[in-house]
Amino acid sequence: MSVLVYTESENGKLKKAALEVASYAKAVADAIGGNVTAVSINSDNNDDLANYGVHKSLEVSDEKLQKFNADAYAEVITQAAKKVDAKVVVISQSANAKYLAPLLSVNLSAAYASNVVDVPKTDNEFTVERTAFTNKAFNHTSLSTDIKILGLSNNAFGLKENKVEMSKEDFSAELNDDHFKINVESVDKNTDKVSIADAEVVVSGGRGLKDPKNWGMIEDLADVLGAATACSKPVSDMGWRPHSEHVGQTGKPVASNLYIAIGISGAIQHLAGISASKTKVVINTDDEAPFFKAADYGIVGDAFEVVPKLIEKLKDFKANNA
Ligand SMILES: Cc1cc2nc3c(=O)[nH]c(=O)nc-3n(C[C@H](O)[C@H](O)[C@H](O)COP(=O)(O)OP(=O)(O)OC[C@H]3O[C@@H](n4cnc5c(N)ncnc54)[C@H](O)[C@@H]3O)c2cc1C
Repeated sequence: MSVLVYTESENGKLKKAALEVASYAKAVADAIGGNVTAVSINSDNNDDLANYGVHKSLEVSDEKLQKFNADAYAEVITQAAKKVDAKVVVISQSANAKYLAPLLSVNLSAAYASNVVDVPKTDNEFTVERTAFTNKAFNHTSLSTDIKILGLSNNAFGLKENKVEMSKEDFSAELNDDHFKINVESVDKNTDKVSIADAEVVVSGGRGLKDPKNWGMIEDLADVLGAATACSKPVSDMGWRPHSEHVGQTGKPVASNLYIAIGISGAIQHLAGISASKTKVVINTDDEAPFFKAADYGIVGDAFEVVPKLIEKLKDFKANNA
């Protein structure tokens, strides 16, 4: 039995999430007995996939696929799945992968489970554990179609090194004009920083920062930690920060290893976006702020005093441990 994993790349480089879905696909293959094939599109170097359990790398190189196009990409993945007779297709939960999921589901007549957090149980049925209600609950879903599509929640499985011998093969799908009816003209990113969704560490600021001028210390702390910056909804509504940084129920979900919330009250709508983060640190002047209930570590203090000291200590630590 074969597992196909779609390994996404950006500017020719595999994303971190690609290695995570590959690690997960290997665990799925071990559970159902089989090998992992990865399909990647316009990625320059896929050698690293061998370290994460991929036995075969199908490599698509096509000028027409330089920009993401859901119909065309779904067709490539569909044809790859058919080629290797995949019984399970694994994707990430990136914005692009979420576009692909329903198309793949139709093309392959396959059930799709999103937000999966664990390896399927295959004793009697094929059952996966998934997060529900903005990470407040888990459910167990059985998939009974011949082919199953699993969308792995970001950072749910982590990177698991598992070196195997990997073969490489050029792969080209048959695409026609119908697959390019929607054309992406350009993709303009407003930042070249780590995106919130992919970040291991996120430093986030709220209205407690008082003024956009004060964001310098959020950025300095993010720089020293190699983190992405984020914010609460009112902060982006007021135009202090771009909407791409707004975390929460109506913003982006964050599943980082470390989430540092500075001057954010911890309203339920904000917490909905960060519950999948592993370690939460809160800095707030108000010891009654609801965020402290959700925090693993809390500092009751003025951000304008605490954050500069934190930056200084982290810089010292890095200098002494370089
Ligand atoms: C339908 C709906 C959807 C929503 N979706 C979202 C969402 O997706 N994301 C989201 O974030 N919000 C969302 N909200 C808004 C949410 O309810 C809160 O209003 C918002 O999260 C509060 O933002 P805040 O914590 O930055 O500001 P505030 O509530 O004003 O809190 C500021 C905090 O900073 C602290 N503080 C003040 N000064 C300092 C200082 N010097 N140092 C340290 N701490 C200080 C204060 O004690 C306070 O806790 C939504 C609301 C609705 C109704």
